[in-house]
Amino acid sequence: MSLRRVAVLAAVLPVVALAADPHAKPAAPAPDAVLKELQQGNARFVAGKAKHPDASVAHRKELAGGQHPKAVILGCADSRVPPELVFDEGLGDLFVVRVAGNVADPVDIGSVEYAVEHLGVGVVVVLGHHSCGAVTSTVEAGGKAEGNIGAILAEIQPAVEQAKASAAKEGLVDDAVHLNAQRTAAALVDRSPILRKAVEEKKLKIVAAVYDLKSGQVEW
Ligand SMILES: [Zn+2]
Repeated sequence: MSLRRVAVLAAVLPVVALAADPHAKPAAPAPDAVLKELQQGNARFVAGKAKHPDASVAHRKELAGGQHPKAVILGCADSRVPPELVFDEGLGDLFVVRVAGNVADPVDIGSVEYAVEHLGVGVVVVLGHHSCGAVTSTVEAGGKAEGNIGAILAEIQPAVEQAKASAAKEGLVDDAVHLNAQRTAAALVDRSPILRKAVEEKKLKIVAAVYDLKSGQVEW
């Protein structure tokens, strides 16, 4: 075989190998396109016109081979804010991390890192919500509580302090809800070299949003 032919083969082979691999990871969709899909899904949910996509038996079976979620949602554990319903998404679409008060402790951040690094997810939405019980408790208890709940309240307390120091817009609890979502989004970057690097390389967008319990609307 001539040297020239070897060089041509070397250039062509990796492409052929990728095309032949049925488990090859599809290219992640652009973060802005993903955000638009989430906004459109929420608009359907708000209007009572949810499509409940990706819930078929065939899709469920297909997903058994692997997952390629489009976004991570770091949301509150509150029973009234299930991300798949709020964004009208289905099986395999969202990688969801839920914890009361949508705070970012090392365990939550590790889950987000897994989705970004190993599943190639390019969008993280930190989803707070109005009238959040964890934020309300933090306001009422001054950021301190017995047992493990204290760890959650301690995470939220800086947002409450910040809300007290700024001009009130929607009342102390809901102002703190907005600030808490923003602070968690910032904490993901501050506390995770992996996420920081992905943001710097423009592979990842992290956004904060707040869900309204009555209207069903997500404010971005
Ligand atoms: Zn909540």
